[in-house]
Amino acid sequence: MTGDERPAGVPRPAEPEGGDPACWVRRVCPACGRLADADPPVRCTTCGEQLPAD
Ligand SMILES: [Zn+2]
Repeated sequence: MTGDERPAGVPRPAEPEGGDPACWVRRVCPACGRLADADPPVRCTTCGEQLPAD
């Protein structure tokens, strides 16, 4: 065994997806670039832009 063989069609386990430290990026206002206080959906406290909930 090489320890790296997997049957075809079987997804790799424990691959983090979307769990990176970049999760706060969705809090960044697309209009003014300010970081919102909470996760979207929320309105930017600076310019009032609606941040999409994705
Ligand atoms: Zn804004």
